[in-house]
Amino acid sequence: MSKHIIVIGAGIAGLSAASYLLRNGYQVTVLEKHTEPGGLCTSWKRKGYTIDYCIHWMMGTREGTEFHPLWQDLGAFTNADGSPVPIVNFDTFTTLELSTGESVCLSSNLENVRDTFLALAPEDEKEILKFYKTLKTMAGTTSTNPLVKKISGFRQLMALMSHLLPMQEYANRFESPKLRELFLTEIPSDWSLVSLTMGLAQQPLKSAGYPVGGSLNIARNIARLIEDKGGVIRYKSDVHTIMVSDGKAIGVTLSDGTTVSADYVISAADGYATLYSMLDGAYVSEPYKKAFGEYPVFPSTVMAAFGIHKDLSSFTHASSLYLKEPIVFADGTTQDRLNLNIYHYDPTLAPKGCTLVAVLFNTWETEAWVTLAQEHPAKYKAEKQRIADEVLKRLEQVFGSLEGLVDMVDVSTPNSVVHYTSNWKGSFEGFAPTKTTLSKRLPKKLPGLANFAMIGQWTTPGGGLPTAAKDGHDIAKMLCKEDGKPFRTSWDGQR
Ligand SMILES: Cc1cc2nc3c(=O)[nH]c(=O)nc-3n(C[C@H](O)[C@H](O)[C@H](O)COP(=O)(O)OP(=O)(O)OC[C@H]3O[C@@H](n4cnc5c(N)ncnc54)[C@H](O)[C@@H]3O)c2cc1C
Repeated sequence: MSKHIIVIGAGIAGLSAASYLLRNGYQVTVLEKHTEPGGLCTSWKRKGYTIDYCIHWMMGTREGTEFHPLWQDLGAFTNADGSPVPIVNFDTFTTLELSTGESVCLSSNLENVRDTFLALAPEDEKEILKFYKTLKTMAGTTSTNPLVKKISGFRQLMALMSHLLPMQEYANRFESPKLRELFLTEIPSDWSLVSLTMGLAQQPLKSAGYPVGGSLNIARNIARLIEDKGGVIRYKSDVHTIMVSDGKAIGVTLSDGTTVSADYVISAADGYATLYSMLDGAYVSEPYKKAFGEYPVFPSTVMAAFGIHKDLSSFTHASSLYLKEPIVFADGTTQDRLNLNIYHYDPTLAPKGCTLVAVLFNTWETEAWVTLAQEHPAKYKAEKQRIADEVLKRLEQVFGSLEGLVDMVDVSTPNSVVHYTSNWKGSFEGFAPTKTTLSKRLPKKLPGLANFAMIGQWTTPGGGLPTAAKDGHDIAKMLCKEDGKPFRTSWDGQR
């Protein structure tokens, strides 16, 4: 009899683990509290529109790049009807509006980025050229020559390391206040420069595109393959406790009191809940104590989405707009930027001739949103409406009057993130990418607890989809090694 493994959570990490375990002969049951796979990698429907929450750029969309084989193995890019998921690559990464009113376009062409920066701040020529050179190295190669790949990989790693420094420290190297503002616009000052440059560097190789159909479609593609191959995914299955006997994980108890036994348990659910609730704090190792006690986390989000009865394809797809009159949220934060995404590039998200538009705000004040939603539901609803109204006013400055053109309004908050995914502090990507966190690996195993492992964004600082998928791959490989059998990535055992 093959081992029965429970995977808690059908986010990308959990799905990936399930998929790789199945093809290596394990019996797998995924237990997911929500009604859909994907976790944070999700979308939802409102009035004929699909609101896409997650994917802006997905590393590995191009064949020949590092994470592509993972997505191929998982079936992420094969739709239900067998058609391939079309990938969109953009000419521009994003456009940033400075407080001076000037707009700076970060092109997908790094030579254009260099020239834009030089025009904006000729006094910083030396530093700009250095920046450009490092970005070029970070971009890597799509060459299939193993030696070229090896050398390029090493140079890439060196370039990445040089961008681990905090954003503020890096921004200070520039004399131009405009460039300093630009670097500090999108990313908190203590985060690593790499959190911006990683995405930018992927653009010229077209290795981090957007999959048409959106985030939930990707998760469903992966989940479908698992179920087709005999894996079980049980939705509405909220794991309450991980059962332990003689220092070994032996199964789980769900919130409805039912138990599911297993030979091995992998938690791909929220890290804090796994350690402090499902395991009742009994196995928290020093690295996790430190991480949950000290590491900064990615924020949560307020997202205002609009279905606009208009073709907005002449507008740039992504921009960060400066708000001369900031919006003050009920959580006490002052928002002076608005991250705008115009999804004209994905026709599956809106009815014909219409466009989905979404605005994202970051906030770390999750507790305030949860309290507002739970204790003052009427005020919570009113605050969401007020935010939508404020955002619409600003959008009309971009698009012109939208009177009679707004088909759909939807505002999600950190309370929604906590409700649907249970992520600690409503964080959208786990531990934030700082010099300290990025140079640390958190252990997948816990001391004193056998037959158990943790994976997902809370175990890999920096988070993101490719690392979640890689975690699933790596844990399956580790189990195969523990069980003394070869690890296969294909279903037929050929690879
Ligand atoms: C707005 C936004 C934009 C993003 N943009 C990008 C991007 O462009 N590119 C990129 O690479 N990444 C992006 N990310 C980050 C990426 O989505 C996450 O890092 C990744 O999806 C995390 O996957 P995970 O499987 O580790 O965790 P999760 O997605 O959190 O999955 C955990 C799963 O466990 C389930 N669960 C929790 N508790 C229980 C329980 N008790 N019982 C059963 N199930 C439970 C949850 O419901 C969930 O399904 C973005 C995220 C957000 C929110």
